[in-house]
Amino acid sequence: MTTCSGPPPSLAAVLKTARRQVPLAPLTSWGIGGPAEYLLAPRTAAEAADLLAAAREAGWPVFFLGRGSNVLIADAGLPGITLHLTTFCQEIEFGDGSATVGAGVYLPRLAGVLAQQGWAGYEFLIGIPGTVGAAVRLNAGTGPGQEMADRVVSVTVLTDDLQVRTLAAAELGFGYRASLLLEQPRWLILAATLRLALREAPAAILARQRAIIRTRRAKFPAEKLTCGSVFKNPPGGPSAGWLIDQCGCKGWAVGDAQVSTKHANFLINRGRATAAQMQALMNAVQEKVWQEHGIALAREVVCLPG
Ligand SMILES: Cc1cc2nc3c(=O)[nH]c(=O)nc-3n(C[C@H](O)[C@H](O)[C@H](O)COP(=O)(O)OP(=O)(O)OC[C@H]3O[C@@H](n4cnc5c(N)ncnc54)[C@H](O)[C@@H]3O)c2cc1C
Repeated sequence: MTTCSGPPPSLAAVLKTARRQVPLAPLTSWGIGGPAEYLLAPRTAAEAADLLAAAREAGWPVFFLGRGSNVLIADAGLPGITLHLTTFCQEIEFGDGSATVGAGVYLPRLAGVLAQQGWAGYEFLIGIPGTVGAAVRLNAGTGPGQEMADRVVSVTVLTDDLQVRTLAAAELGFGYRASLLLEQPRWLILAATLRLALREAPAAILARQRAIIRTRRAKFPAEKLTCGSVFKNPPGGPSAGWLIDQCGCKGWAVGDAQVSTKHANFLINRGRATAAQMQALMNAVQEKVWQEHGIALAREVVCLPG
C-alpha cells in the first residue's frame, strides 16, 4: 500500500487515538479488502470536523466507511485516514412531522424505532444493512416509492471546506441510485431529515417488516458475504439480474468470487476472494452483457480508493 509520510504535528495529535494498519475486510459485508493505514471512529460531527481539518491541512486522504455493505476495498487497502462511521451521529430526533436522523444510524434500527413509534412508510429499510448517510448518498431503496428520495426533506453535510450546509431534497438531484452527493466524495453526510406522515399501529408495521424479511430471504442468496445488488438496473429496461442471467453468467467464478446461482446480480465471496478477483468478475459480467445485449451495466457498488 502507498502510505502517507509521517504526519505533521497538528495531525499527529488527532491520530493519537487512531488504530494503525487495521484490516478492513471484517468491516465490509463482502469480507474483502486490505488494511486502513489509520482508522478512527468519530462519534460526533465536531470530532469529525477536527479530524478532517487536520487531515486536509496535511494533505492526507480521508475515506468514509459506514457498514461496508456497498463497497469493494482494494487488496492494498486505504492510505491515509479511514473514518469508520458505525458509531457516528447516532441521534434520532423527532420534530413536527419529521425526524432528523444521524448519518451513522443503522437503517434496520431506524425502521424498528419508527415502527415502535407508529410511523409507517419506512418498512423497506428493514432489509437494507447500511447507514443513513450512505443510503441518502446513493438514494438506497427497494423499488418505486420505496427510496430514500421519497422520504427525505433535507440532508445536512460537512462540505469540503468544512462548512455545515443543509440542502433541501429538491437541491439533491435524486434519481434511481443517484444523487448530487455522489459527485462530492469529500463531503461528509451528517444527518438527514425525513418526513413522517403515515400513522399506523406498531404491530401492523412490524408485521409488514417481518413479511419483507421473509420475502427477501426467499429471493436473495443465503450466503453471508455479499454486497447486495452489484449493478444498477438499466433505465427503462429489464433488470440487471435478468440480463446477467440471460447471458448465462450464473455460477461464473474468478477464484473465490462467484456470480450467485440464485440471483445473478449478487456476486458472492465464497471465502477467500480478493478485490482483484471480484473486480475481474465484475468486468467479465459487464463485458458479456455488453456483447450480448449492447447494454453497459453501471456499478452500484463503490470501489475504494477509486
Ligand atoms: C444483503 C444486502 C442487501 C442489500 N439490499 C439493498 C437494497 O435493497 N437496496 C439498496 O439500495 N441497497 C441495498 N444494499 C446495499 C447497501 O446496504 C446500501 O447501499 C447502503 O446504503 C450502504 O450503506 P453502508 O453504511 O454500508 O455504506 P458503505 O458501504 O460503508 O459506503 C458506501 C459509500 O458511501 C460512502 N459513505 C458512507 N457513509 C458516508 C457519510 N456519512 N458521508 C459520506 N459518504 C459516506 C462511502 O465512502 C462509500 O463510498 C444491500 C447490501 C447487502 C449486503
